[in-house]
Amino acid sequence: MLRDSFNREVTYLRVSVTERCNFRCRYCMAEKPFSWVQKENLLSYEELFAFIKIGIDKGIRKIRLTGGEPTIRENLDELIAMIHTYAPAVDIGLTTNGFLLPAQAEKLKSAGLRRVNISLDSLDPQILHYIAQKDVFEQVIRGIEAAVDAGLSVKINSVILRGINEHEILPLFEYAKEIGAQIRYIEYMENSHASDALQGLRSDEIIEVLEKAYSFIPINKEVSGPANLYETSEGYRFGTIEPHRHDFCATCDRLRLTAEGDLIGCLYFEGAKSIKEAIQNGNITKATEILADVVFNKPEKNLWGIENVEVSSRAFYRTGG
Ligand code: SAM
Ligand code: SF4
Repeated sequence: MLRDSFNREVTYLRVSVTERCNFRCRYCMAEKPFSWVQKENLLSYEELFAFIKIGIDKGIRKIRLTGGEPTIRENLDELIAMIHTYAPAVDIGLTTNGFLLPAQAEKLKSAGLRRVNISLDSLDPQILHYIAQKDVFEQVIRGIEAAVDAGLSVKINSVILRGINEHEILPLFEYAKEIGAQIRYIEYMENSHASDALQGLRSDEIIEVLEKAYSFIPINKEVSGPANLYETSEGYRFGTIEPHRHDFCATCDRLRLTAEGDLIGCLYFEGAKSIKEAIQNGNITKATEILADVVFNKPEKNLWGIENVEVSSRAFYRTGG
């Protein structure tokens, strides 16, 4: 079992398979980075899997593949199949912008993928174009449909930005409800890679809008997860992810692995330890020690809710969000 120094059990590993992306969302990768990690510096699927196996043996029960855009790395189904074959009970999820799902949803499901979180910030093609800096609406919607048709459990992730898509809180809710997907409103997290002018809505503002149209009650916080969950009188569940709240990190159960092998204890902070050399040398003992070290030194909490601290310099496209 992996337990940090604040007595939180770590059971969830988010694995970024690439930092590259086919979108340029203004809150994440407003501009193409000055340089990409060279392909030869990425861990191969075999190397990522070698580390994932150590994690599973130590108590990881949930893996999420992310990026950048994970579906742009070739043959993602192969990595999923490796994990699924090794540990069929491990819950494998994917976070994606959905653009390539029309071609991949079936294949990923057959390989062992159970869940997919798809980012959708607008139902207005022009607004989505503005946010993603690419004309993507039709294909993202087709991607969502393909995921539903493939039998994947689908969630919708939406970041609500002041003056941009704040009038879409209800339409996005209704769309997600209609297709049987849980919507989760993620508060915009300020970071130095985003466009300067962006401002996100806080979840109490989002809840206030929803309360005018629906009656719902808070239900227990997601079991081992960051979302605050609500249920409408019709039984539809949705969530908010509130990294600015002081108690957000109290139940944090996760670590992040970047595509080049940096193991990260917290999304906010720069600190990381590389497992690359240990994995490439087949040194399982060393890789296990690094895992234990990163778990032990996991920070108590992020600093998004604290006034007057510098914005995080972590790039979400590197850590996988
Ligand atoms: N490309 C995939 C996607 O967009 O879903 C996976 C990677 S993306 C970094 C993962 C999640 O982080 C997405 O739901 C995205 O909306 C969210 N995200 C990225 N930057 C963010 C920010 N500054 N604040 C809040 N959420 C952010
Ligand atoms: Fe790409 Fe996802 Fe970041 Fe948008 S949020 S730029 S889709 S990695």
